Amino acid sequence: MTDLTSLTLAEARKGLADKTFTSLELTDAHLSAIEAARVLNAFVMETPDQARDMAREADAKIAKGEGGPLAGIPLGIKDLFATKGVRTTACSKILGNFVPTYESTVTSQLWRDGAVMLGKLNNDEFAMGSANETSCFGPVGNPWRREGSNTTLVPGGSSGGSASAVAALLCMGATATDTGGSIRQPAAFTATVGIKPTYGRCSRWGIVAFASSLDQAGPIARSVRDAAMLLRSMAGHDPKDTTSVDIPVPDYEAAIGKSVKGMKIGIPKEYRLDGMPAEIEKLWGEGAAWLRSAGAELVEVSLPHTKYALPAYYIVAPAEASSNLARYDGVRYGLREQGKNIIELYENTRAEGFGAEVRRRVMIGTYVLSAGYYDAYYLRAQKVRTLIKKDFEDCFAKGVDAILTPATPSAAFGIGEKGGADPVEMYLNDIFTVTVNMAGLPGIAVPAGKDPQGLPLGLQLIGRPFEEETLFSLGEVIEQAAGRFTPARWW
Ligand code: GLN
Repeated sequence: MTDLTSLTLAEARKGLADKTFTSLELTDAHLSAIEAARVLNAFVMETPDQARDMAREADAKIAKGEGGPLAGIPLGIKDLFATKGVRTTACSKILGNFVPTYESTVTSQLWRDGAVMLGKLNNDEFAMGSANETSCFGPVGNPWRREGSNTTLVPGGSSGGSASAVAALLCMGATATDTGGSIRQPAAFTATVGIKPTYGRCSRWGIVAFASSLDQAGPIARSVRDAAMLLRSMAGHDPKDTTSVDIPVPDYEAAIGKSVKGMKIGIPKEYRLDGMPAEIEKLWGEGAAWLRSAGAELVEVSLPHTKYALPAYYIVAPAEASSNLARYDGVRYGLREQGKNIIELYENTRAEGFGAEVRRRVMIGTYVLSAGYYDAYYLRAQKVRTLIKKDFEDCFAKGVDAILTPATPSAAFGIGEKGGADPVEMYLNDIFTVTVNMAGLPGIAVPAGKDPQGLPLGLQLIGRPFEEETLFSLGEVIEQAAGRFTPARWW
């Protein structure tokens, strides 16, 4: 049955509808694949009993012709999404064995549409990181390796478990979240498709908060069509999240195969960095050529405030994180370390429960929000954020439909290779992705080629607010031209 794991979600949907196989068979095939791939450390919690129950239920509904749009499709869930009755930790020691009594809106919509949960996926602690190395459950392995090497590489982060599991064919798709690139960067590192929808498109309710004005949920999938199918179920207005937007969810899949003829695609000159690897430059040129031959018009655009995006992000995101994470005090959730008095209990719990990167962010955030520094840092970063947003608005006002950029400045790197001495080295991974969060726009990463060592590279398309459909149409053009990539199995 192992070949069932190599289907795309769209192919599996057809096989289930045609009764070629059952959801239970499809689910079992993935559960066996997960068991055989524990060395990747992609799952932090496997839920095989629940998966089989959900699969049986889906099979019964399919038999009666009542299966939803994702009936019987086995998925992995990033451990940032609250899952009722199933441990949810954000991969932080501080949440301990926290078992939510409620389900996040996004996951409940997936179950409403018939999907099956295989388990919870590894991520950077509180989604802070770009390599999935800050998780309290340890790093995740990328199923991709450099040709002729057996060094284990990172899958990117923070949704490293999601990307690794989808690329290694352990689940047919996964939920992920993106605050500064955490869907798109791991997708690019693993040859999977990841879309961060417009801020407000998916409900944040029941997702562990990192930086609330930037956080957005989205899927990581095996193809552009699969991502479209998943996003349709994940998106939608939710009165429980006041930032979720009340506009209808389109049938994203209908955008696949739509002509992109006459679309205007911007190439931002500020994204051409000094010292950018030749293979990234080449990939970008190829992507532009593919879109041009599909009938799109390529134009150079300028996003002049790009260089301030990363520094401004590393003020805004930690500021919000420091206040969001204030709730982890040892009283309400998870871990508790006793102390002589309540203050000491807070201090001991937080010192013991948060990892080094999270502590760094809390300290930076507290500092930039403090009375003497608020205007100099936080307020100024917010002003820069407005300018970044305006850069994009100016572009779109000139008739640009989408913007094409590389997804990442490099291919995947080895575990422990980056950021050890200088955290900024790690932060630089997000150089092409954070601008999109700062502006609240949708962005998709699509596999587009390989570097000379055989590692996958991705391209990013950035769209107008709530025009994810344009990204799916353009993304599929790239996918058709580049082909799909699967790693050679070594685990
Ligand atoms: N890598 C970025 C950070 O560490 C973004 C993470 C994310 O998008 N969740 O903040």
